[in-house]
Amino acid sequence: MLLITCPFCGPRDESEFACGGEAHIVRPADPAALTDAQWADYLFMRKNVKGVHFERWMHSHGCRRWFNAARDTVTHQFLAFYKMGEQAPDIAPVSYTARPAPRTDPALPADPALHTDREGAR
Ligand SMILES: [Zn+2]
Repeated sequence: MLLITCPFCGPRDESEFACGGEAHIVRPADPAALTDAQWADYLFMRKNVKGVHFERWMHSHGCRRWFNAARDTVTHQFLAFYKMGEQAPDIAPVSYTARPAPRTDPALPADPALHTDREGAR
């Protein structure tokens, strides 16, 4: 269970909140001047970040106010909470490298948790 800190109410259970998607998307000043592709890009295209992502959240079962949060999409750890209109915190992006190569030593089990002692279970 995640603990989310509403900037107005304090820490609460994640079940009280609803995620509103990516934060800091600015509506174009003159939508009529955009091409269909530009307008579709504004409406539908969102980042799919592996690492720090800035999101809008609503305390839907609390004060019902919107706020922003910075969350690591890999660990689900929240890094910052801040009110709408406030500057996003300067958080360095986390660099995730490729998964480590699997162990190739046949003497070692690939995952000790998967091996059980069947003799001992009888
Ligand atoms: Zn709240």
